Amino acid sequence: MSVKDETTFQCSSCQANWSAGEFGKDCDECGGGALKRNCTLCNSKCDSIYLRAIIDSWDTHEAHWNGSCKLPEEEKQKLIAARIYEAQG
Ligand SMILES: [Zn+2]
Ligand SMILES: [Zn+2]
Repeated sequence: MSVKDETTFQCSSCQANWSAGEFGKDCDECGGGALKRNCTLCNSKCDSIYLRAIIDSWDTHEAHWNGSCKLPEEEKQKLIAARIYEAQG
């Protein structure tokens, strides 16, 4: 496939060129990745790749990702519980 795609996706907040793999480090809309990133749930312990939901990200100015963690359900629940606990301080 040609790299010279006519469609360029970029962040509407910081103008990072997602199509070129760029993303803003402190940008909510970029959210730590360009068009794809490692698993957000387990900090890439599994090798799942999440794909950006571009329209949702633009609409909300917040990163939205499509993907699911490949860890066993039990492990995932632990991570989710830990995360909620952290958020509550
Ligand atoms: Zn951005
Ligand atoms: Zn994962």
